[in-house]
Amino acid sequence: MATEEDPLSVTLDRLTQAVTQPVENMDTIKTLISRLHSKLKVQESSCISVCGTFFPWSDYTEYFAVVVPDAEVRLSTLAKIIPPERQTLEQLVHLIEVCREPSMVTAVCSLLHDALSPSNKGDIRDIVIQTCLALNTAEVILRTLKSLSTEGLTVIEPCVHPAYQVLAKLASKDPKLAVKARLVGGVKLTHQLLQAHMKNNVPLLPLLMVTKYLAKNSTNQVMLGKDGCVATLAAILTSVPKTHWAKIKFIMEILALLTKATNVSPRLAAIVRANGQKLQSLLNYFFESNVIRLVRETGLQRVLSIFDGWEKIERRHQIKILKSILGTLSHMCDSKHGRKAVMALNGVEITQRFIQSCPADKKFDSALASATNVFLKCISKGELPVSSTRGAFKFQVANREESDSTAALSREATPGLDADSSDDELEDEMEEEEEDFDLSREMKGVDLSSEYSVERPRTEELVRLAPLFPELSNYKVQSGTRFKDVTLEARRGNVNDSSPDAGTDYYLRASDSTKSIISFVKVAYPDMIGARGPMYLEELYDKDRKVCRSKAIATVERVLHPEIYMERVVYDLDYLLESEHSRQLITPASSSSRSLSNWDEKRVGKKDVTVNHLNFESRFESGNLRRVIQASNTEYDLILNADVNSSHHHQWFYFEVSNMEPNTQYTFNIINNEKPNSEFNFGMKPVMFSVREALLGRPAWVRTGSNICYHKNHYSRIPKCHDNVRFKKSANKSYYTATFTVTFPHAYDVCYLAYHYPYTYTQLQAYLSKLDNRNLPSDIFYCSQLLCHTLNGNPVPLLTITSKDTNKTKEVVFLTARVHPGESNSSWVMEGVVDFILGGSVAARLLLDKFVFKIVPMLNPEGVIHGNQRCGLTDEDLNRRWRSPNPQLHPTICHSKSLLEYLVHVAKQKVRVFCDFHGHSRQKNVFMYGCSRLQSWWPGDKDTPDSPDFMLLPRLAQNCMGTFSLRDCHFQIERAREATARVAVWRQFDIPMSYTMEASTCGCDQGPYKNYHLSPKELIESGEGFCLALSYLVSTPEVLNSRLLQDSERVDHKFGMTKERNLGDFTKEVAFWSGELDDDLDSDDDLDLDLYGPM
Ligand SMILES: [Zn+2]
Repeated sequence: MATEEDPLSVTLDRLTQAVTQPVENMDTIKTLISRLHSKLKVQESSCISVCGTFFPWSDYTEYFAVVVPDAEVRLSTLAKIIPPERQTLEQLVHLIEVCREPSMVTAVCSLLHDALSPSNKGDIRDIVIQTCLALNTAEVILRTLKSLSTEGLTVIEPCVHPAYQVLAKLASKDPKLAVKARLVGGVKLTHQLLQAHMKNNVPLLPLLMVTKYLAKNSTNQVMLGKDGCVATLAAILTSVPKTHWAKIKFIMEILALLTKATNVSPRLAAIVRANGQKLQSLLNYFFESNVIRLVRETGLQRVLSIFDGWEKIERRHQIKILKSILGTLSHMCDSKHGRKAVMALNGVEITQRFIQSCPADKKFDSALASATNVFLKCISKGELPVSSTRGAFKFQVANREESDSTAALSREATPGLDADSSDDELEDEMEEEEEDFDLSREMKGVDLSSEYSVERPRTEELVRLAPLFPELSNYKVQSGTRFKDVTLEARRGNVNDSSPDAGTDYYLRASDSTKSIISFVKVAYPDMIGARGPMYLEELYDKDRKVCRSKAIATVERVLHPEIYMERVVYDLDYLLESEHSRQLITPASSSSRSLSNWDEKRVGKKDVTVNHLNFESRFESGNLRRVIQASNTEYDLILNADVNSSHHHQWFYFEVSNMEPNTQYTFNIINNEKPNSEFNFGMKPVMFSVREALLGRPAWVRTGSNICYHKNHYSRIPKCHDNVRFKKSANKSYYTATFTVTFPHAYDVCYLAYHYPYTYTQLQAYLSKLDNRNLPSDIFYCSQLLCHTLNGNPVPLLTITSKDTNKTKEVVFLTARVHPGESNSSWVMEGVVDFILGGSVAARLLLDKFVFKIVPMLNPEGVIHGNQRCGLTDEDLNRRWRSPNPQLHPTICHSKSLLEYLVHVAKQKVRVFCDFHGHSRQKNVFMYGCSRLQSWWPGDKDTPDSPDFMLLPRLAQNCMGTFSLRDCHFQIERAREATARVAVWRQFDIPMSYTMEASTCGCDQGPYKNYHLSPKELIESGEGFCLALSYLVSTPEVLNSRLLQDSERVDHKFGMTKERNLGDFTKEVAFWSGELDDDLDSDDDLDLDLYGPM
């Protein structure tokens, strides 16, 4: 008989039949389920049998009679249950809700729990998990429990354990559960159950696990805090047996989440900004209260005592518990109240003891780093040893007051749009929250068109720009427009190109007319001779974890024993500027007309006998050293100059060093960096140039340094004005140290050290002078004109390049670079672009035939000249001013934008591509940001479908550039990026192919340059690759498609995407990219084991 051959199939068939009338057949169904379950039963952990009284389905006597089946039986049973046509899982989940009966919930969940057990290895279990997720099982269970619990918590008592076991398993796999649970009332319910089972060992573990996942969502954190969850956890922590480490681990993890102080989503933060102080203090209160509660409930005391006895923690939980404890302490220390409590309970001493006794094992590295962080947050920090953190260079901005008030007004009118985060600051510490239904509804009401309607220049104003479009008037460059700047004209005298020093001559001539707000003392040697990288590739730095470890311990030691350091000032820009100033008062006007030069060659090999330390200098273009303090014979602390008129943005550095002893290792600590992390921790080396090496015939910047590390230090940092609004408890911020050790190649040499290969404004001018003198083919139209002047009177060049072919209507490619002065790599890329299109190749001819190139190679000359990292002369990020630039304060942005305005509204020309070149300090490779309507923050954008072109250029670039990584591209339109060139140009001129192209300051982690640094050679090559990609845009459709097909294959291969994806199917692609980017779930593999393993 069939039943004998396959009783399981019969059971399943009967189940299918019975569920058609579930309520009537309840008892039959339960019997069938228990029969199924007997085939899936997994060996339970000891707790179940020990705590038999809580065994919720004790009336099923069958369970106790069953011999636990072996793995094979279980897997073959599962294999019969999971086929979709059987619909068994669907029926089971369905039963939970339709029966709405505790014993049914128990029966189904017990079965699911065993079906989901990690002991069912392989694909089958994955299918069970995926099916359960697709059936929204967790939501169904929570909704049913919530509905049953309205009659009292005791009603659901029997099913709490099996239900939460299943929830715990699914929670780790379902990133949306935290939100779904809130919407069905599951967050409050879980906390109520946690309170009810505080001393009940059996369901406590799964309840804690689920709570942890719910607490990952910032809204839930507020909710749980309000409900008194911290008090509940503190109470559990006191009562839980000291050996139940799994439970303690989860309690610690939840506490670390609840005490987090920066968990407001950017969107919520924007709303808070818009609603002012009241809402902010309300939110602060909630976050604060979690910290206060932990103190009040003596939870902190228990946390610290576990920390103090960390060696007793069971091995397999040790690191996780330490990490959570340190996370909680770190969050506590972000608030004044919390910090006081930590210190009062000897938290600093306990942390210090941990640091000193921390094992050398690698797995403790992150705990050590966190402990150092907590220590630094607690100790009262010293000020940076400098007279004022405000930059040493000051610039009086004309009309500042008037302009300021308009700027302030425009800022006020559009709250949230001027957040100071940057393109290359996607690391933004704030956690993204996936959804917020109410918010998006509110956003829909924002009328963006009205925000953009302001300040459009009238047509008659635009008409004045006509001379800047010689290509539109038969290539006639009208007299007076081509470098009408007199000084510029004068210096472009004839250089004899055949002389060996032609490059140097070009540079020195150009340098004469570069205006700076302080008197420079020299021209830097590498700039003067046009130094680049070496001919070979340089490997990324292989980080030594022991170095970072010892640096962390040294930071703590330095605080505890400051007396062993030398603290001798050996370079002081403020003093030098002051003495220069007083000298000028005595003999005025002598320095301004002085030509700068360089005498480094004469200094090489000569020891400065008057001092016994290194000598430093940085009063040259793009130099930015503020102060150097000698800490020991061979160690120096360096303070960088802030951006002009600013106290911030330290990252770029460029300085000269001399008087080095032979065979000596010198350590340089740059101690006032602000970013929380750096590529110096991920393989980047700084660059060094040796004049002696140059004289020996090897004139190149080379990557240098060992013992490289980037870490927090003990100097306190003044917060930026935005910090408070953004919920960073900034009162106790630290600076960061970039440290590296250099052994110079020669004694008594003159060397230069820089963050990245410098590219000065003068270098650009010298390059353009050379182009002016170059004999270009007669059919190429090349013209460099004056776009405008900077605030300090330096001319800003505009290049127009196309072919001399008057009969065609051409499309425009508009390129800009170097809006951020610290991103010198973008200038090298731009040089690659210009060289390529003037280079006469087939692709270049094709490009010039179809396109007019309008190029603004340097949007921020003042920032470049003065060694700034991010701003110009007004302490403003010019790439946050594209939405409505102020003609007085942001002339370069204003004029560039007017050109686009002219092209679109007056000349009615199509701008096919806009691209702004940048450098990225936190990511590897070259990549682009584009604009996808589908991925816009503003719901109104999604009403119109994306142009099929928006991803085209990055996809082509993937095939044309060895450095390029399509994987690193993204196409989101974030609210905080509305005023960047990419988004503003996309939105206001309706240019679908509007991009930011980022080149890493470090190197590549994929492609042919994987594990190598990028040098000017690869950057120039990337510029060429960019042009090649452009050339495919104007090639025949067949060529273009074959390129893209190739691209699809490569992408498919790399990321396992489906081959069927056709070229127009961008939606899938977009979803793929965004999914890739948002996926930051921490894997919790051992979580499964906790549920089944010992306590
Ligand atoms: Zn940038």
